[in-house]
Amino acid sequence: MKSLISISMAFIILNLDSLSSQVLNEDNKVLNSNENREFKKMKRTDSEWRRILSSSEYHILREKGTERAFTGEYDGHFEEGMYVCAGCGHKLFDSETKYRSGCGWPAFSKALPESVEETEDNSYGMRRIEITCSKCDGHLGHVFNDGPQPSGLRYCINSVSMDFKPEEDK
Ligand code: FE
Repeated sequence: MKSLISISMAFIILNLDSLSSQVLNEDNKVLNSNENREFKKMKRTDSEWRRILSSSEYHILREKGTERAFTGEYDGHFEEGMYVCAGCGHKLFDSETKYRSGCGWPAFSKALPESVEETEDNSYGMRRIEITCSKCDGHLGHVFNDGPQPSGLRYCINSVSMDFKPEEDK
C-alpha cells in the first residue's frame, strides 16, 4: 500500500512538472522556430561555455546581458562581409543589411535564412522579441518594428555576440 502511494505521488509530481513546462512554453513561445533546419543544434554545458567564451561573451550570449550603447566594436562598422555568431560561428547577418539606426548597437534590416530564432521577452516591464542564434541558442539582442522598408525591421544586436568575417571569407 505504501509503495502504491509513493507511485501515485511520483505520477502526480510528473504531471505537475509537465503542466508547468506547458505554461512556460505559452509565455516564451518560439515565434519562428524552424523544425526542418539543415543543421544540428550545438549543445554545450555551462562549464564548456565558460571555458570557450570570454567573460563579456559569456555574460551576453549565455546570461542575456546587454553591452552599453555606443560602445560596441561593430556599432559604427560598415565593411563588406558576414557577421557570424561569436559562440558557434553560425552565419547571422550580411553586411548589406546593416544600416545606421543611431540606436547605439549594430542594426540590421534582415537576418539570414534560418540564422536566428525569436522569443517573446517580457523582462524589465517591456514587451520585446528576443533574438537568439538558431544553432547554439546564444542571446544576440532584440528585433523591433521601426526598421527601414521593405522589411520594416530593426535587428538590434550586441557587437560582443558577433564576429565579423570580411568579404573574401564569405
Ligand atoms: Fe551561435
